[in-house]
Amino acid sequence: MTLPERLGLVSYRNQAKSEIKPHIKVDTDICNSTCPHHCTTYVCPANCYTKDENGKVHFQVEDCIECGTCMYACDQGAVSWEFPDPEIGRGVTWNFG
Ligand code: SF4
Ligand code: SF4
Repeated sequence: MTLPERLGLVSYRNQAKSEIKPHIKVDTDICNSTCPHHCTTYVCPANCYTKDENGKVHFQVEDCIECGTCMYACDQGAVSWEFPDPEIGRGVTWNFG
């Protein structure tokens, strides 16, 4: 099974992908103004951080596997992480480990 196929199996407890309440928020104004390296566009294994043809950084939380890499990689203060509604349990669940 390829990585994209595996990523397609990521689902979230208590929410559908289409109704996702993001656990990561990214201030892309910082990404696209003062960030000198855009390192999260290289290190995210799920390709949640991308650059378009104009070099502009975009973030989408869908497919995030909660590895935590971007939280440590971003040294610009653009990434914040908070699980919404912790009392009912949210977060990634894997179908095949
Ligand atoms: S390192 Fe931080 S500020 Fe730079 S592109 Fe990634 S998330 Fe944005
Ligand atoms: S936690 Fe991991 S998979 Fe999710 S956006 Fe950050 S680097 Fe990507």
